[in-house]
Amino acid sequence: MLKLNCEQATRMMSESQERPLRPAERTVLRMHTWICAGCRNFGGQLGFIRQAMKGFAAQADDDHNAPPGGA
Ligand SMILES: [Zn+2]
Repeated sequence: MLKLNCEQATRMMSESQERPLRPAERTVLRMHTWICAGCRNFGGQLGFIRQAMKGFAAQADDDHNAPPGGA
C-alpha cells in the first residue's frame, strides 16, 4: 500500500491548488489526512484560502456584472 509522509502530503496539497490531482494521488492523500491531524489542518487551511479566493472572485464577478449604477 502506497503511503505518503507529511512532506509529500503537504506538497501534494499545495500542488492540488495548481493542478487537478490524479485519482491515485487523491486516494493516498486522503488516506494520509485521515490518520494525520497535522496534514488535515494544513489541508483545511488550504481549503479555507481556496474558498476565500473563490468568494473573492465571485464577488468581483458580481461587481463586474452589476448594472451601472444610475442616478
Ligand atoms: Zn502528515
